[in-house]
Amino acid sequence: MMRARGFKRGGVPVNQRVPFQTGPIENAFLPMNAVVLLKDTFTAVEPFPVVHVGQEVREGQLLAKSAGRGSSNVHSPIPGIVRRIDSVKTPGGFDSKAVLVSLEGSFSVLGKRPERYLWKSLNKADISHIVQEKGIVCVSNGEPLFEMIADRSSKPGFVMVISALETDPYRRTEEELLALRPEDVIDGCAIAARMALPARILLAVDEHIDATTVDRLRDIIVSSELDVSIQAFKRRFPQEMPRQIADALDIDDAGSLFVLEPSTLIALHEAVVANKPHIEQYVYIGGGSIKRPAILKARIGAPIGDLIEECGGFSGTPDTIVIGGPFRGRSAADLDASVTRTTRAVLALTAEETRSAPERPCVRCGDCVEICPEGLDPYSMLKLLRVGRNEEAGAIGLDRCTSCGVCAYACRSRIPLVRYFDDARRNEVRR
Ligand code: SF4
Ligand code: SF4
Repeated sequence: MMRARGFKRGGVPVNQRVPFQTGPIENAFLPMNAVVLLKDTFTAVEPFPVVHVGQEVREGQLLAKSAGRGSSNVHSPIPGIVRRIDSVKTPGGFDSKAVLVSLEGSFSVLGKRPERYLWKSLNKADISHIVQEKGIVCVSNGEPLFEMIADRSSKPGFVMVISALETDPYRRTEEELLALRPEDVIDGCAIAARMALPARILLAVDEHIDATTVDRLRDIIVSSELDVSIQAFKRRFPQEMPRQIADALDIDDAGSLFVLEPSTLIALHEAVVANKPHIEQYVYIGGGSIKRPAILKARIGAPIGDLIEECGGFSGTPDTIVIGGPFRGRSAADLDASVTRTTRAVLALTAEETRSAPERPCVRCGDCVEICPEGLDPYSMLKLLRVGRNEEAGAIGLDRCTSCGVCAYACRSRIPLVRYFDDARRNEVRR
């Protein structure tokens, strides 16, 4: 049994994670219409569309080309006809161009035996070119992966952390992928290591991970000839923030960690070994209002309503549908919101789960201060923002806030603290 490292401050201790349907991860049905957002995140730079309305596209064909740093290529998740290219408001609250593709024609990826290229003979530049070309982004932050890796490789001495840790008690996608596709995760790790050249590699897992999964991983690591150590972490959410991982490992500089999750490594592996663009995403569909919670492998652009239907639909009227998680997710305005390369969970939560109540005045209880994993003072930050002293709020910690959302989750006055913090920073960027 491994000794689990504990997080030093903040977070929500949870013993039981929310149960879900285990077993092989199912492919979601193909969407009849895929709405592909060209921006995954607010900070992403929008790529240029290279298709026009009425054009026929193949599965995996380039829809939009990177516009430079912070931007990534976007490919068609299905074969079909481009019906629309217009600007939409994303569930994240920012604007993005979206390409609507209606399903038609035959598949080039689906149902075909995947090609397997022997990547070990490729050099670093060749691999980087493939990763850029295939539009692979880091699923936790939406940044182009080849850029993240290039930035890292220019600063040697960092620790690459393969993190199967999770943000909240609902999701278990990363650990499931580790258990179901360990060879691909470790091979993806070897590809990332070839490109980034880390000083060491650490596989971060939950303290209650299944022992047979760990034994299997150890065997695969030995045969891969990679030097990877496995480290367990105590269950307290959010579990996967670089600062907490660094603290738990007694590493002073969280910036010296390069954290990648198994789902990103699988996308990397499939790009390099099977020539596959980033057109799929593993999405956890759950929450108390979902009949059969499960992880689905969904096409980018699929409406979340279709995925909910595949999980049996609702078992009652949900109080809210959240894209992301209970701490930092954003409410979906409707079931047409589409899956992006950073959609990791869709939760239909009951009123009991959301602890839904109107916002009330702050009672200065200090819970938010106690629970903040970054050691910040959300109460004082909010007070300053409310009187327009944004710069001072930035100086006392707003600039270091990771938007993990646990302060808002814990707030007994139901103040959406993280929304205030995100809005303030967004306005700062716009100025
Ligand atoms: S948790 Fe909420 S009520 Fe308590 S101090 Fe923080 S903002 Fe105020
Ligand atoms: S959202 Fe920011 S202020 Fe709130 S707990 Fe997380 S890091 Fe702390």
